[in-house]
Amino acid sequence: MSRLVVVSNRVGPLKDTGKAGGLAVALVDVLQEMGGLWFGWTGTTSDEGSFGPLQTEAVDTVTLAQIDMTQADYDDFYAGYANRTLWPVLHYRLDLADFSRRYEEGYRRVNERFATRLRPMLKADDVIWVQDYHFFNFAAELRAMGVTNKIAFFLHIPFPAPEILAGLPNADQLVRRMLAYDLIGFQTSRDAENFRRFVVSEIGGKDKGNGVVSAGGREVLVRGYPIGIDAAGFAKLATTPDARRHTARIEKLVGGRPQIIGVDRIDYSKGLPERFRAFERLLEDYPENRGGVSLMQVAPPSRSELDAYAEIRRELEELTGHINGRFADLDWTPIRFMARSFTRRALAGIYRASRVGLVTPLRDGMNLVAKEYVAAQRAEDPGVLVLSRFAGAAEGMPEALIVNPHSTEGVAAALQTALTMPLEERRDRWQAMFDRICAQDASAWAREILRDLDAYSK
Ligand code: UDP
Repeated sequence: MSRLVVVSNRVGPLKDTGKAGGLAVALVDVLQEMGGLWFGWTGTTSDEGSFGPLQTEAVDTVTLAQIDMTQADYDDFYAGYANRTLWPVLHYRLDLADFSRRYEEGYRRVNERFATRLRPMLKADDVIWVQDYHFFNFAAELRAMGVTNKIAFFLHIPFPAPEILAGLPNADQLVRRMLAYDLIGFQTSRDAENFRRFVVSEIGGKDKGNGVVSAGGREVLVRGYPIGIDAAGFAKLATTPDARRHTARIEKLVGGRPQIIGVDRIDYSKGLPERFRAFERLLEDYPENRGGVSLMQVAPPSRSELDAYAEIRRELEELTGHINGRFADLDWTPIRFMARSFTRRALAGIYRASRVGLVTPLRDGMNLVAKEYVAAQRAEDPGVLVLSRFAGAAEGMPEALIVNPHSTEGVAAALQTALTMPLEERRDRWQAMFDRICAQDASAWAREILRDLDAYSK
């Protein structure tokens, strides 16, 4: 059997630390089964950067191999092109993107350097699987070094409509280089369709049907593979003593009144200010909720060195102050905004104590919180998921209350529907979603991609 080589910006952890996300869990499963190598960045910068020593750690059949980057690589590749250029463009926010020749060169440099370091570790029949927007160019660099192995790519964030992507300088070159992969996977069939449309309309390729595109002498399989969570594992987390303690603390605080929960990194893609305004609208349009319903927002800060992120946090603090000042009462605080993180165990308990899960990104690759909220519910008395149509998760969760996050009125009305939904309907909707996320869990996702790569590329 072939060995699996995974390439991603950050690597591991191999052991379940309670903090590992769904991706790590899914990859560790298949890596252990096939035996493999997981290669990426240490997370630190040094003077030697990617020319420095390879740091390795082996557990059973899996080896982690990591290298540093230089401060300039970090600035241009990671903080620059990845976070300031690609992240906004791929989330449909050309207006927030920084286009700089230096970032673009840094991106190519780091892709090339990382591929150069991986090259000597590769064996002839290794299957290579590259993750996410940090490494669009990785296969092209390997191919230039003579590597003919099967190589798959998966994009964890959205792939925008060609009309948007065309605004990225040199987008055509980026997409051409992506055709060095044998299989390109996206979170939704819509994202895959966007990619195929770009290949046809912007670089003169052909859509050959069944997901296959051809251009420049290459044929590539392009499909949606919605990522799953470890649903059974997460459902179990929600009943651990630690999770129960968190459930109990909230239940004591709200005393039988319904809580709406939001959990998102502070990021402009998450639609947080729009969400707070929709909650305010709920209190305006449906005044029976005043004194009763509260919104708890868990919001770990991320990338706070970027202005756009710092700005959102300020806006959320202001909105919280405004809405609480306007509506709060002696024994009721409408919004509890916490700019901090919780462990996944704690989150599982918090989801379980919340009558409504409110997930309203303006754009999101998948959104795992939507799936985790469902996995953590009590089968006999489950909560209701209100979900943005612009989250990848919406494609596979039609039983959620699907909303347009830009519509303040629409989200407020959906919240009211959720809060008044009869138990039987809540159970029916929840059961359908729960069954599906169990069947399409994280390891099924990884296996399907590897199976298609094997079947498709001979
Ligand atoms: N998460 C966490 N602690 C927090 C907030 C979030 O562990 O305080 C986890 C959450 O359980 C989920 C992930 O972070 O697994 C967020 O994934 P999602 O796809 O929703 O959004 P992303 O942050 O990747 O854009």
